[in-house]
Amino acid sequence: MPLNEERADLHILVTNDDGVYAPGILALANALRPLGRISILAPERNWSAAGHQKTLNRPLRVKQVTLVDGTLAHASDGAPSDCVALAVLGVFDTRPDIVVSGINPTNNLGHDVTYSGTVTNAIEAAIWGLPGIAISLDTPNAKPGEVDYAPAAAVARVIVEAVIRYGLPRDVLLSVNIPYRPLEQLTEFRITRQGNRVYRDVLVKREDPWSQPYYWIGGEFPTGIPEEDTDVGAVEQGVVSITPLHLDMTAYDHMDTLRQWKFIPG
Ligand code: MN
Repeated sequence: MPLNEERADLHILVTNDDGVYAPGILALANALRPLGRISILAPERNWSAAGHQKTLNRPLRVKQVTLVDGTLAHASDGAPSDCVALAVLGVFDTRPDIVVSGINPTNNLGHDVTYSGTVTNAIEAAIWGLPGIAISLDTPNAKPGEVDYAPAAAVARVIVEAVIRYGLPRDVLLSVNIPYRPLEQLTEFRITRQGNRVYRDVLVKREDPWSQPYYWIGGEFPTGIPEEDTDVGAVEQGVVSITPLHLDMTAYDHMDTLRQWKFIPG
């Protein structure tokens, strides 16, 4: 379904999972400003790797905040996906037409999409029938100093413009991963599939002062298998990765096998 051609009428929700004061969301909002009316609603703290949530056991508060350049934004004490739901259900005077989430300071590749608040914001948008786009930056792990979001923000604008032009089918969202390169090197865009992550988690067991054990899920940053047609392979080659994801996670090619199983009652 193509979106309204009248850009002044287009209401873009910009959100993230890193918190409203994270630099990536401000870079994204400012880059998208020429495309429509921007509303920023994001969590008041960092929720990275919090996955998809719906807060039902407590009230949600929304407050207006001012970002470092004077931009007005809104912060919620809910989870990232709550922010999308709040906007869709009427926190603002009009419902958003499109949801853009990011810019996450690290990549979201392969299986990461199930952990990533950045991506689950786009999933939440798709559940409500809106185009959702997650933007993640493949910042090198040990990069010293400040992250430069400007190239990724410019790429995000190009992709959001394309979504406005072409629309997305129902239940489809985009997960975008952008290599950490100068803008003049970000010329190639590849449509990719989800790659395979290699998680290097290890269980770190320690003892508290009362000799009770506690645990950290620790270990090195995950790597991945860099097959060319995957998100992992694209960013490794310095190519902008655009992965279309579907809300329907049914494993269709396994249904016939399952139908042959014998389920033995009793
Ligand atoms: Mn994050």
